[in-house]
Amino acid sequence: MVVKSIADVVNFIENGVKIDFEKIKIEKDEDNILDFSDVKGQYFAKRAMEISAAGGHNILLIGSPGSGKSMLAKRMIGILPEMSENEIIESTKIYSVAGELSEKNPIISKRPVRMPHHSSTLPAMVGGGKKAIPGEISLASNGILILDEMSEFKHSVLEALRQPLEDGFVSITRAMYRVEFKTNFLLVGTSNPCPCGMLYEGNCKCSNIEIERYTKKLSGPILDRIDLIIQIKRLNEEELVNNKKGESSAEIRKRVIKAREIQFKRFKETRTNSTMTQEELKKYCDIKDEDKKFLISALENLKISARVYDKILKIARTIADLEGKEELERKHLLEAISFKK
Ligand SMILES: [Zn+2]
Repeated sequence: MVVKSIADVVNFIENGVKIDFEKIKIEKDEDNILDFSDVKGQYFAKRAMEISAAGGHNILLIGSPGSGKSMLAKRMIGILPEMSENEIIESTKIYSVAGELSEKNPIISKRPVRMPHHSSTLPAMVGGGKKAIPGEISLASNGILILDEMSEFKHSVLEALRQPLEDGFVSITRAMYRVEFKTNFLLVGTSNPCPCGMLYEGNCKCSNIEIERYTKKLSGPILDRIDLIIQIKRLNEEELVNNKKGESSAEIRKRVIKAREIQFKRFKETRTNSTMTQEELKKYCDIKDEDKKFLISALENLKISARVYDKILKIARTIADLEGKEELERKHLLEAISFKK
């Protein structure tokens, strides 16, 4: 419900005249959303995106041009639950401050999707200006921030993502003011694997040094905040000719909602597994000693850094939640490991 005019509010405060609220028709999230059923093959990537949506895990899709990574990224929004009333109010406030509301679009009732271009400036991303206007990072709150071709973004822009990803807010300091905008978004990044893009397709023309320099653009601290890093290959001939429709976004979303409900119950607030603290990890991801040994040696064999141990536990927790299982089992760990590069 919204008031029709400021005059109504003034009249209410000064003269106690009852406000005639206007009912706003909330559009359903399903409208005009790209569907996963249009994406052929890529089962591994689709499963990773389901886990990402369910547990609020940031995700990076790495693949060659034409592998469908951007197509997949744009479909993430269709498998997220609808916004809660609190989220609608929060996002509407941010858009109001940013001057992005209009008569046609007076409230934000659909999860925002922001997809800034890789040439975006730091102020455009973080916010600022004379009147402390929120930037892309804040506008994406309660929705998703898609960074297509993430390696092409300026280093300063990627660095600016660290604080919001870590602490859930972005602060802007200028000569005249210092403001903090709360933000809570799901990061969906895409990237080529190398400058020519063909590393996973077997016909890469880049030198080792070029590849190394390219991968280094996505710095460790940012990658540390991305739980799922997925390699995507182009479809093979068999997958290309297969006309079978994939599972719809609505079906996937049902599982995502169920898994989120389990998490809200666990944390007694609307939080997801990706935000678990060390203490919570110990409490909710308690695995058998033999599984611990198994996980440590699997990481060693796969030459995966021990730092990702916690990430694997968080992802395994989400996989178990999607299955409705309370106990973390070996198969959940195995699937979680399969999502590590
Ligand atoms: Zn290459």
